[in-house]
Formats: sequence, C-alpha cells, structure tokens
Amino acid sequence: MSILKVLRQIVQDVSTAPDLNAVLAITVGRVQKAMQTEVCSVFLHNQDTARYVLRATHGLNPEAVGKVSLSPDEGIVGLVAKRAEPINLEDAFMHPSFHYIDAIGEDLFHAFLGVPIMHQRKVLGVLVVQQRDKRRFDESEEAFLVTLSAQLAGIIAHAHATGSMQTESLDGAPSEIRKDIRYDGVAAASGVVIGEIVVASIPADLDSVVDRDAEDIEQEKADLKRALVAVRKDISEVSKNLAGRISKDENALFDVYLRMLDDNALPSEIYAKIDQGSWAQGALREVILEHVRTFAAMDDPYLSERSTDIKDLGKRILQHLQEDMGDRQTVYPENAVLLADELTPAMLGLVPDGKLSGLISVTGSGNSHAAILARSMGIPTVMGVVDLPFRRLEGERVIVDGYSGRIYVNPSTELVQAFSRIVIDEQIVADELKELRDLPAITKDGYRLPLWVNTGLAADVGRSLEQGAEGIGLYRTEIPFMIRDSFPSEQEQIESYRTQLEAFAPRPVTMRTLDIGGDKALPYFPIEEENPSLGWRGIRVTLDHPEIFMVQVRAMLRASEGLDNLRIMLPMVTSVSEVEEALRQIDRALAELKEEGYKIKKPPVGVMIEVPAAVYQTRRFARLVDFISVGSNDLTQYLLAVDRNNPRVAGLYASYHPAVLKALDFIVHEAHKERKHVSICGEIAADPGGALLLMAMGYDVLSVNANNLPKIKYAIRNVSFSRARQLLLSVRSLHDAEEIHQELRQSLKAFGLSRLTRPMIPEQKKH
Ligand code: PEP
Ligand code: MG
Repeated sequence: MSILKVLRQIVQDVSTAPDLNAVLAITVGRVQKAMQTEVCSVFLHNQDTARYVLRATHGLNPEAVGKVSLSPDEGIVGLVAKRAEPINLEDAFMHPSFHYIDAIGEDLFHAFLGVPIMHQRKVLGVLVVQQRDKRRFDESEEAFLVTLSAQLAGIIAHAHATGSMQTESLDGAPSEIRKDIRYDGVAAASGVVIGEIVVASIPADLDSVVDRDAEDIEQEKADLKRALVAVRKDISEVSKNLAGRISKDENALFDVYLRMLDDNALPSEIYAKIDQGSWAQGALREVILEHVRTFAAMDDPYLSERSTDIKDLGKRILQHLQEDMGDRQTVYPENAVLLADELTPAMLGLVPDGKLSGLISVTGSGNSHAAILARSMGIPTVMGVVDLPFRRLEGERVIVDGYSGRIYVNPSTELVQAFSRIVIDEQIVADELKELRDLPAITKDGYRLPLWVNTGLAADVGRSLEQGAEGIGLYRTEIPFMIRDSFPSEQEQIESYRTQLEAFAPRPVTMRTLDIGGDKALPYFPIEEENPSLGWRGIRVTLDHPEIFMVQVRAMLRASEGLDNLRIMLPMVTSVSEVEEALRQIDRALAELKEEGYKIKKPPVGVMIEVPAAVYQTRRFARLVDFISVGSNDLTQYLLAVDRNNPRVAGLYASYHPAVLKALDFIVHEAHKERKHVSICGEIAADPGGALLLMAMGYDVLSVNANNLPKIKYAIRNVSFSRARQLLLSVRSLHDAEEIHQELRQSLKAFGLSRLTRPMIPEQKKH
C-alpha cells in the first residue's frame, strides 16, 4: 500500500474512534504495524501536573500506562516536548538526556524516534517509536511519523476535549459528569447567561441527532416500527414505479435495501440499543453511522460505495421518526440556550420569543451573520466551540460567557453565583442606559453625531425604535429572504419593506440590495463554492440576475411611495462598471414605475466600501452616487485576508489593525472631497472605543446594532470631541492591534466609561 494510503487509512480509523483511549490505542497499534517497529507509544501532556504521561503503548509494559510520566526536563521524551522538534537517535542509551525508568521495560530498545504532537502552537504530547537494533530511522520514516502526528493532533485534541466531560473512574463504570467543564470558542455577542441547552437538530440529518434517554422504551420501539413500515412501503412503491424503466440489475438495489430493513438485519441492532435505554433517533444514528464507517473503510470500491446507501436508508427512517415527533410539541425551558453545529440566521426563530437566552455554535466565528444577528438581539453568544461534543449536551445546564467566548457545562454553585453577579450588574447598566432613549448623541463640547441602526430581523424595528434610533443605516434585506422556501414576490417584498419605511418615517431607511453568497445562503438558491468569500457574492449575483434585482428594486421603490424616506445601498462593489450598471437598472425601474402611474421620488443611492479595491476608488464612486457607507466587517476580512467565519483564524481578525484604521481614515477623507456623506455600518461602530475613533475621523453617521446603540450614545455624551481627536492621534502612532486595543480600553477608563468595557469575568481552569 502507498504511504499516502496508509496515512489516510490510519487517520480515518482514528477519526471515527469513540473516545480518546480508543484514538490512542488505534494510533499506537497502527503505527507500530505500518512502520514495523517494535514499540510505539504516546505520551500526553497533563495540565494539572505539567508532566507527559504515558497514555498508550504497543511494545512497552502495558501496566505502566497512566502511571509513568516525565517532566519536560526529564528524558528524551521531555526534550522532544521542550524543543517541539523531532529527535531521531541511533542509540537512545547514549544520549545525555536518557532517563531510565524501571517500570516501563524499554531496556531492550536502542533506536528512538520521537515527534511532538502539536496543536495550535502547543505541544499536546509526544509520539514515539523504538526498536531493538541500533539504527537511525531513515528520512522517509521520520517524514511519515511527522506527517501522521500533524494529522492526528487535531483529532487527539478534540477527543481530549470531548472526553473531559466525564470524571475518569478506575473501574470503567459510567462516571459522573464533571462540574464546570470549560470549552473555548470565539466571543460573538457579549453578555452572560445561565441556562439550559437545547440542541437544534437539522431535519433528516443523522449527524445532528442528539443523545437522549428514552422516556418510554415501548413507545420508542413502536415509533421505530412505524417508521420502518413506512420506509419499506416507500421503497417498494418506488421500485414498482421504476420497474420497466430501469434495468433489472438497478432495480435489484431496492431488494438489497429491503433486505437491510428486514427485522433481523439493521432494525434488530437499533431495537437492541433502544432496549439499553436510548431514544429511537439516537439508536438509529449509532447503528447507521457505525455501518457507514465499516463499509466506507472497505478496500473493495463496490462495498465501500454501499456506505452511501446505508446512510440514505438511515436518513429516510429518521425523516419518518421526526415527522411523528412533529406532532408532539417540543417543550422549551425558560432560559433556553440554543446549541447548533452550524448556527444559521434561520435558527434564531426556532425557540419561542422570550425563552431564547443564549446561543452556542460549534462552527462559525465572531462576524458570521448569525453572530451579528445575535448581537442585535442582545443574546450572549459563543461561536466556533470546535471541540464541543454537542450531541451529548441536550438538557445540560450551562453558563455562556459571551465576553470571553467560553462556556461552562454543568456549572458548580460557586461559578453560578459568580456569574449571576455579572448578570445583575449588566441589568443595572442596561436600565440606566434606557433613560438616554430620547436624548441626542452629542458630545460634551456640542458635536452632534447621528446614530442609526442595522436591522434585518422583523423584531429589529421595534427594538430600534425603543432604543431611540434616528434612522436605519443598513437593512439587511437578505435576512427575510433566508427564512423562506422561495424568492418572495414583488408584492410580498413591498409589504415587508413598507413596514420598515412606515415605522421609521420620516427618518431615513437605508435598504441594501440582496447580499447573498459568502455565509448567507438561500435554501432555495444554493451557491456552492470552494471559496465563497471571494466568489459570487452581493452585487455580483444580482447583476447576473437582473430579474431578481429589478423585482427587489421595484418593490423598494413602490414601498416608499408617499413616504420618501428610502435610500438604496449596493453591497460588495469592486468596480465602477458595477456601480454604473446597477444605477442604470435602478433608473430603469424608476422609469417603468412612473410609466405605470406611480408617483415615486428618486431615492438617494449609495455604495458600500467593503473590499480593498473599493477603498482606492472611494472618490470615483462618490462622484457617481449620493452617499458612501463602509462595511467594515467585510473590509477587515479582505484587508487582513482573514475569513470572518473561520474560528481557526478568529484571533487574527483584528478590527483595530492599523491597516484597517488607515483605510477607514482614508475613505472618509476621499468621500468628503466630493462632499458626500459617509456612514459606517460594520460592527466596529458598535464598539464604544471604535465609535469614538470613527467620530473623530469625521464619519457623518454611525449605524450600529440596536442592542449596542445606548452604549454608544452614552460614550459620545460623556466625552468631548477634542478628547476623541486626541485619542485618534495617539492611536494613529501605534503599530499593533493589541496595543491599540489597550490604548482604547485605558482611554475609556480615563473618560469614566469603565461601565462600557467588559466586566471582570471569573476564570475557571480548563480540564
Ligand atoms: C459589513 O460587511 O461590514 C456589513 C455591514 O455587511 P455584512 O456584515 O452584512 O456583510
Ligand atoms: Mg458586508
């Protein structure tokens, strides 16, 4: 077998192992076999003792597993970890760091190759192979082990994190769930909440089925039975309908399906799992996925293909089980914390109003659109908690710390008390800020800055008016498009736009034309791309589909009849030609409507500056349009080349990167040369420090999420414009995002605005 194939096979087997011990056992067994060494062992770092513990071995004394450990200053294993480099020795006994441990039984082995297991710049452990003979492992062997270790690191880290849920019991009996299990993600919406986890399941998706105990075993079995009868019937009908149209061989596949569904085949295993206490969906998932793994690992291509059939069968059964469930109402707890593998804007409506108190997503990052909406709803959110065993967490108590981007499962009374104090303090601040509602955002020295809001969800309008918004700076029209099954008609769009325009009239409402693509998918218009952020997004899609664009623009214009407070904004523009084309279409829509007899005033049209190419053409664009609005979320993503949805690089997504601030400064000056208004609607404006910098730069309007609006108003009302200018000048001389952050934090304190900065968060160690 080729090296690559061996590597793939090992990684595949390891990645489907149920827990950390299995991961390690498979690793040492397979590596020993593939490299034909006498020994393969794994040492893992233990945080509490700061030592490397022998966790699995093939070839050394198995009794030593879990007992023998080395400090980073001990032995060659310690040295590999300390240097974070491979060490390859012909005779380990001759090395000055060699450390003899009686219990381990390595006196026979001379040749030694150890490679560090690195994850996120940290040494997780050391992977070692040893051999009796005195010989140096050759280059290909070293390369093999290094490659394997790099691939296994993520899996080991994940298994480690998910395994830390349970206390380790010595006799292997089911153990208690630990207290205060901390998982780290990305801070996505600030605030703290203590609640109960509800896992969002995706219809007909086996992978997202949660673990749950059966309430009534007989009922679960009856449900399964009904689902199986229904699936068998479906298959027989399809087979009958297709008979004569497809070949006999092809039709034989349906017989195979039916045989698999025979009571003695797959179902018997599922029933057995239900008997052990699982609910039907969980039992189905376990059995199906295990068979899928077995088949997928088979060398024979025909048999390995069958894994798809099994998964398909599983999906069908699941669909029927879920349809049955649909009739029984889900009961949501008060303080529900919705947990999803991939949180989407559409899911925000899953939990009934008033009960949704926190959000957690395994994927996504701080500027994913679900995170932005969560911020506008004021719901504490943590995204990108990549190591979370989400299926096992249904019904667990949890603390969501949206400031640090951490969650604590099964919190202790002490931790709950500590976080409860923050919740109370936050409520006090929020109540005080409510009093600012009807006051203007005006600095101590009389500089007035209009504060507008970003909207998208239906509830945003009410929330925004409550917070005293003076206009809408960004209405993300794609959001209502996302929560539907097909494109809305012109009439449907008119109704929803009219609601926004009427609610705010005579205040301005800036409607952005459809900005889909990237992380905003329409279920009925899928765009599948390798690199969606650089792909078919925003204006690029709508210019290619004038029928969609024209319907939307017509709807906006018609909705504004008699109100005249509409502004239209174009997202993701890169070139002058795009702006010209879009303007032509808007003019055409206007002309058509006039011909049809509508009396519509031409609205101001603006462009968003979201990509670096647009930054350098700001002045050119400003001559063509009526206003400029900066989308700093995307602009930061593109300037820094950091995917805003990828938690792996979330630490590099620096809103206060000097390059970003330079661009923001440049844009406002260029647009003002043409005497055009410049607003900003990215999230940097919703951060008190950012808002002060933007005001000092000369931005004419800040458009922020409704939830943060009072904080921004409070910040502006408590500084003078001249001090904000001084702050900007000192920030301009700094060259590092972290330094700038620090400077902003200190300045906010000096301005007496500490209450707007993040509270002191209790820190709990990670297991
Ligand atoms: C932005 O990119 O800053 C912006 C406001 O648009 P969105 O977040 O919807 O991409
Ligand atoms: Mg954008």
